[in-house]
Amino acid sequence: MSDATRAVIDAPRAIPGDDIYDITIIGAGPTGQFAAFYAGLRGARTQVIDALEEPGGALTAIYPEKYIYDVIGFPRVLAKDFVAHCDIQARQADPTIRLKEQVLELEVLPDGLIRLGTTKGDRWSRTVIVCAGVGAFEPKRLDVPGLRELEGKGVHYFAKHVEDFRDRHVVIVGGGDSAVDWAVTLEPIAAQVTLIHRSKFRAHEATVRQLEASTVDVNYPGYEIVSILDGGEDGRLKGVTFKGPDGEERAIPADDLIVAIGFIADLGPMKRWGFTLQRNQIVVDKTTMETGIPGVYAAGDVAAYPAKFKLIVTGAAEAVTAVNHAVTYYDPKARLDPGHSTNIMEKREKAETSAAAAED
Ligand SMILES: Cc1cc2nc3c(=O)[nH]c(=O)nc-3n(C[C@H](O)[C@H](O)[C@H](O)COP(=O)(O)OP(=O)(O)OC[C@H]3O[C@@H](n4cnc5c(N)ncnc54)[C@H](O)[C@@H]3O)c2cc1C
Repeated sequence: MSDATRAVIDAPRAIPGDDIYDITIIGAGPTGQFAAFYAGLRGARTQVIDALEEPGGALTAIYPEKYIYDVIGFPRVLAKDFVAHCDIQARQADPTIRLKEQVLELEVLPDGLIRLGTTKGDRWSRTVIVCAGVGAFEPKRLDVPGLRELEGKGVHYFAKHVEDFRDRHVVIVGGGDSAVDWAVTLEPIAAQVTLIHRSKFRAHEATVRQLEASTVDVNYPGYEIVSILDGGEDGRLKGVTFKGPDGEERAIPADDLIVAIGFIADLGPMKRWGFTLQRNQIVVDKTTMETGIPGVYAAGDVAAYPAKFKLIVTGAAEAVTAVNHAVTYYDPKARLDPGHSTNIMEKREKAETSAAAAED
């Protein structure tokens, strides 16, 4: 950034009715939550904005009751419990957290300050870290006559609570992580779980092995739902008919149909912000997590670079890189590497103690 731009960013300004943050994080998924914590650790004035009504991103919206096995410090943890811990950690430095607010526009003003146009007005920031995952979550729908009318009446695209399926006949469609996870998770509690899938499994090998060893009625490859049975006084789903590669149809009772055939990844408004995009992700420099827009970084599932892994732990590491570079962007005198959290907290506690002593 030029000295002239820096001078303008540093200059006091009047933004009517609002405030300038050092770092704005778009997305309160696990990456955004960790970025908020780390930004707080670095003393940045931080706001987090998320379109959903709860933090946690995909973990809250898609698989709150699925176990996660590959995050640091937890041999096995429910996604919703992990999110709750992330939330406590994220709030330590008291960031402003704005939920149910979607960011629609990003504009870098001539002086370098960034304006974010959201569904609730304008927000202002010196830097931005985009932790937006795949953008808005829009599930792919099954094209079966009458299915749409039964959404919420036995047909689910966002199944959340395991207990909702106790003692019920559940049919699951799909062969990715979500479908296979739900099949394995519900098997011990549902009356019967039937899995229907068109091609090969794309889920994690270990979960597929668990599935194969379970009592789940697995129908693949080449199986698909052809019709549904609704009706009765409650107008809820009653059953499904599916057929296999031999064309033979089979009708089974179903209280619930979980359709888990993936999500349509759509960055929505972010496509118009001027990023270089690659398969619905934002291309970044992986040494800094900078996008092509000065002062704007990306981390987590939304960020693209060679040999990228879309995992919670990877997102957390990327968040640290993004925050450290954002801090040196708005404060060039700051150190890029602040050291360990123990050192930072010790220094902060000493500074607070001497400030308190000076006041006495
Ligand atoms: C079924 C399933 C199982 C998985 N299991 C594991 C696992 O065991 N271990 C693992 O490491 N990973 C797992 N993953 C992957 C993991 O969930 C992701 O890597 C992780 O959620 C990425 O976090 P994130 O914060 O980058 O994005 P997300 O969790 O996708 O969060 C992005 C957030 O950004 C918000 N957002 C998007 N656009 C805007 C906007 N314009 N304005 C405001 N808010 C916006 C969204 O509302 C969302 O809350 C799994 C994924 C799935 C689907």
